[in-house]
Amino acid sequence: MAETKKSEKILGVKGMNDILPEDAPLWELFENTVQSVLRSYGYQQIRTPIVEPTPLFARGLGTVTDIVEKEMYSFTDSMNGDELTLRPECTAGVVRSVLEHNLTYDGPKRLWYEGPMFRHERPQRGRYRQFHQVGAEAVGFAGPDIDAELIMLCQRLWDDLGLSGIRLEINSIGDAQERHAHRVDLIAYFEQHKDQLDADAQRRLHSNPLRILDTKNPTMQELVNNAPQLIEYLGEESRAHFEGVQRLLKHNNIPFTINPRLVRGMDYYNRTVFEWITDQLGSQGTVCGGGRYDPLVEIFGGKPTPAVGFAMGVERLLELMKATSGDVSRSQCDVYLVHQGEAAQLQSFTLGERLRDAGLDVVLHCASAGGAGSFKSQMKRADASGAAYAIILGEDEVANGTATIKYLRDADASDNQRSVALELVADHLIDHMTADGDHDHGHLHAGQIHTHH
Ligand code: ATP
Ligand code: MG
Repeated sequence: MAETKKSEKILGVKGMNDILPEDAPLWELFENTVQSVLRSYGYQQIRTPIVEPTPLFARGLGTVTDIVEKEMYSFTDSMNGDELTLRPECTAGVVRSVLEHNLTYDGPKRLWYEGPMFRHERPQRGRYRQFHQVGAEAVGFAGPDIDAELIMLCQRLWDDLGLSGIRLEINSIGDAQERHAHRVDLIAYFEQHKDQLDADAQRRLHSNPLRILDTKNPTMQELVNNAPQLIEYLGEESRAHFEGVQRLLKHNNIPFTINPRLVRGMDYYNRTVFEWITDQLGSQGTVCGGGRYDPLVEIFGGKPTPAVGFAMGVERLLELMKATSGDVSRSQCDVYLVHQGEAAQLQSFTLGERLRDAGLDVVLHCASAGGAGSFKSQMKRADASGAAYAIILGEDEVANGTATIKYLRDADASDNQRSVALELVADHLIDHMTADGDHDHGHLHAGQIHTHH
């Protein structure tokens, strides 16, 4: 084990980021919007563990995928020898949980999740080793209607987040038999052009040739463009399903393009696959990917159960939000309580609780290493907090049973402060906020966040 000197700073793990307080309002805005959109379609949240047994992913994702081949954080539990993995995605865990708790016993389920995922990739813009996904899984639904609903739900989320320029690509990768017929022709085609395949593609030629179509290698683009297209191999049922999805998207005015090369990474996908892509993020432009995975429940030992879902990359969407809505900020509190002397400190604790009872967000000035500080230095903190009001309790106020309210945001300096009886402070502040039409505050609009353009 590597030794660290006691005085040396220990830094975080590369590719795993701290989400700092300054970014918290953006995350909250995103999460609140996600929650309300998913609820509006009847999706229920599920929270599964971050650690799962390693075989869950090996079996669920297929062993010839990027994730299982080289991206998983797997380890042996030193206490009992269990093989465990930090989840690289959440579909496998959700399906495991659905089976373990027989969640579909009374019919199909609409589920969603959010949380950190872990993949050992090269860290770069839009690609991290710990990142976050929001996903939805509709388990037990067979028709094209639910596929279309999931896609529409994404569109509503982009709209509600104020995001534009995210385009939809869809494809159908058929069922196992259709893929098999295509695969035979695909392997024959690539064998004919073996000299043009890169090392990755050579390795996958017989194990997972479909993935070759996914290649980002520019020198292989033409080869891949002329390869046999899976969509030509679809049988009647797959074709009808795919047309059903398209009909519903058109009916609901969701623009899309069919990308015959879109195949998605995991083995368990069938029929509908889709991706939402933006050009505004450089090369990591896919913000959401999804599709049908009818075979997965059976792979995990359950009864055949059709299912479909998507996962979106939260960091990429937040970067888009930053680019479109500018800076998202929020004041730390409505009221900053300033006080001097022991009696005033006691009084300010009581007043703080009373204001919180009334629904206000209150920061009570507390001593730092240098002590409580002068009025002047406390007022500096009050200004920095973004509060609309500073309330001052000093010797005079305590003697009179009053508090001095300072209006930190009022332009009119003449009406800049006022003395109010202690028991009337809460009412006075609420009246002032209402009269002001102040929309920035927790009390009137719980959790409201403002954006600056
Ligand atoms: P990519 O081709 O970019 O590697 P993927 O096919 O591996 O994507 P999925 O497994 O479909 O991605 O995950 C869904 C979404 O999660 C992606 O579209 C992306 O927005 C996000 N995502 C995937 N991997 C990362 C990562 N390492 N860092 C940040 N976001 C990621
Ligand atoms: Mg990947």
